[in-house]
Amino acid sequence: MGPQFLLDGMLGALTRWLRICGYDAEYLRNASDEELIRKAVDGERILLTRDRLLYRKAVRAGAEAFFIEGDGDIEKLASVSRRFNLELDPEKSRCPQCDATLVAVEKEAIEGKVPSRTLEAYDEFWICESCGKVYWKGSHWKNIVETVEEAVKRSLAICDSENTL
Ligand SMILES: [Zn+2]
Repeated sequence: MGPQFLLDGMLGALTRWLRICGYDAEYLRNASDEELIRKAVDGERILLTRDRLLYRKAVRAGAEAFFIEGDGDIEKLASVSRRFNLELDPEKSRCPQCDATLVAVEKEAIEGKVPSRTLEAYDEFWICESCGKVYWKGSHWKNIVETVEEAVKRSLAICDSENTL
């Protein structure tokens, strides 16, 4: 199992991308700095933040933390990927909504939970163990794969430029 993350309220989109790439990412939208730091320390989660002050406080309190630079989802995902050496693979997606594990299900099990047209058009479905949301590789899947591939490319590009004298 890879590293587990905890993200501050400014990083909702990054939270989803980490989950899509298979990483356990907890997101607390309205938590105080103290709450976030306590959760990071107690839960042994790496705190990801865009708040320099919070970052410093967390490190001082003994939490593992990483300050996220970069604009845009792809840049942010690339910087986390590079720092923690993450393999980014949307085939390993967790539930983007709630962070729980997805399990493959037979069509029969989800009849009535998705539109019948969808049921006919696709063969593979997954259900979230926790919130019950059903997923399939719909029209958005191509965009997801392309975004993740772009993040992988950028994370490699960052490495290259740092290794160049
Ligand atoms: Zn879920």
